[in-house]
Amino acid sequence: MSSIAQRLELIHQRIKAAAEIAGRLPSDIRLLAVSKTVPAALIRKAYAAGQHAFGENYAQEASDKIIALADLRPNLEWHFIGPLQSNKTKEVASLFDWVHSIDRPKIAQRLSAQRLNEPQLQPLQVCVQVNLSGETTKGGVAPHEVEELCDLVAQLPAICLRGLMTIPAPSANRVTQASACAQLRQCFTKIAAARLGRLGYDYFDTLSMGMSDDLEAAIAEGSTLVRIGTAIFGQRN
Ligand SMILES: *Cc1c(COP(=O)(O)O)cnc(C)c1O
Repeated sequence: MSSIAQRLELIHQRIKAAAEIAGRLPSDIRLLAVSKTVPAALIRKAYAAGQHAFGENYAQEASDKIIALADLRPNLEWHFIGPLQSNKTKEVASLFDWVHSIDRPKIAQRLSAQRLNEPQLQPLQVCVQVNLSGETTKGGVAPHEVEELCDLVAQLPAICLRGLMTIPAPSANRVTQASACAQLRQCFTKIAAARLGRLGYDYFDTLSMGMSDDLEAAIAEGSTLVRIGTAIFGQRN
């Protein structure tokens, strides 16, 4: 089996190739290594291989690892990408740099209020999660509710609205993958154009989409941040 460093290198090559085909700069696409279920020791190896941004789905599991890897701060960035319950927002507000899964006002308001109690930290960087497929098991706001939630998040004091995130319904079909990603891009472009220069939208620049199986389609459709787990760390149990 190949090493973490080799797998990371392969992902960077995939990002570069996809960016070139799309006429984009590889440096405009960030790589988030999704480390859910991955032990801290392996995350440390990925860090040693140059990967400094990690995504986690479960607050409890993440906080144990964030504490175990505290010596690597502040060169390590932690992104929360999983479903977020109200009783976990305090932990997330104090431990993470980013949250990609904002899907209702209450969660955003709690994160902001709790982040205000951590004045030594930068504002929490957040994306609003959009549920394009309408699957009820999945988090995210419906496309017609995105603008309203973005406007609310943009007003909150300890939060910086960065963009939109989606988890498309799994598909091996490149056309299906691309059409979901194109929908998110269109949603993003519409919001960004209508709110140009408006307070709270100064850093609205992130399209968080693309995972191990659809990163090429996501980059072709404008992704600025891909979230890759399996292709770096192997199959999860
Ligand atoms: C697990 C997960 C990923 C990574 O998916 P892979 O297919 O393993 O690359 C990306 N985004 C979210 C929100 C996830 O939960």
